[in-house]
Amino acid sequence: MAQLSNHPDDAMMSTTDVAGLARLTLDGQARITEANTQAKIWFPELVPGQSQLCDAWLVGQDLQIIDRNYRPIHLPSLVQGELAEPYLGLAGARDTQWVQWHHHRQGRKTILTLVDVSPLMNELFTMQDSFEEASIRDYATGLYNRRYAMERLEQMYLHAKRYHNPFTIALVDVDHFKRINDTFGYAFGDNVIEQLAGVLVRSLRETDICARYAGEEFMVLMPETETQEAILSLDRLRQQVSELKWTNMQRPVTVSSGVISWQPNKSVEQLMFLADQRLSTAKKAGRNQVCGDLV
Ligand code: GH3
Ligand code: MG
Ligand code: MG
Repeated sequence: MAQLSNHPDDAMMSTTDVAGLARLTLDGQARITEANTQAKIWFPELVPGQSQLCDAWLVGQDLQIIDRNYRPIHLPSLVQGELAEPYLGLAGARDTQWVQWHHHRQGRKTILTLVDVSPLMNELFTMQDSFEEASIRDYATGLYNRRYAMERLEQMYLHAKRYHNPFTIALVDVDHFKRINDTFGYAFGDNVIEQLAGVLVRSLRETDICARYAGEEFMVLMPETETQEAILSLDRLRQQVSELKWTNMQRPVTVSSGVISWQPNKSVEQLMFLADQRLSTAKKAGRNQVCGDLV
């Protein structure tokens, strides 16, 4: 009676031409001695007995083996079966196939099996991208969140210190927002914040970073922008906000801003402190205005 075998070699023999499963047999010098149909699809220039699984051979056919962070992997560790990374990318000129690999030593031979897991990995990457995007955004407004804006500010600051590229910070705060909440309810207040976030993004430049800094306070980072230019932009925003029409509300919603540009002798904390001071000055001077003067 025929016996079913559990030996891994037998399992591999029977799966040699399963779709999406490539099988490469290597000799002691990493020369590819056998390859199944799928392996020949992934490595089209492969000549059994001649091709050697090494960097030079891969480069010659415009192929790179990479890890999940798109870094080239160390080929000898793959060939020796010592690679910790279970998934690999076969990056060609046009696209990347993602594979899970398995290494099996058979005497002097090495059998490498690569299983196509591209749909799974692509779904995982899409999920990771959306998690990353969500982690830098304010959920309600879709603007960047405070943590991300502060990170970008630190980067801009270091860049400005090194290359003297100017940038400007603005804090934009809704005037008498508590009254709006008290009169029309918190949900209406939320809606005002969301609408204003949209105006902010549409009114400012695409390169400006608009963030929700706190409840009804926004932060704008304006790269390559000097104070006067920033004041003009923020005043245009102020005007647009004051012209918005709101159902049930007779009075316009207005915003005040405090503006400060990078100065070589000031730290990030000092710049933020000054922006906040200027915002207070704008409030004290009657609101619905932009303050960018020295205080
Ligand atoms: P000022 O012109 O001086 O800025 O006055 P203000 O009333 O806007 O300032 P204040 O700091 O006294 O009040 C801000 C209010 O914003 C208080 C808080 O309850 C409300 N608020 C903070 N976050 C939210 C939010 O996410 N949604 C709503 N609806 N209200 C919020
Ligand atoms: Mg306010
Ligand atoms: Mg406030």
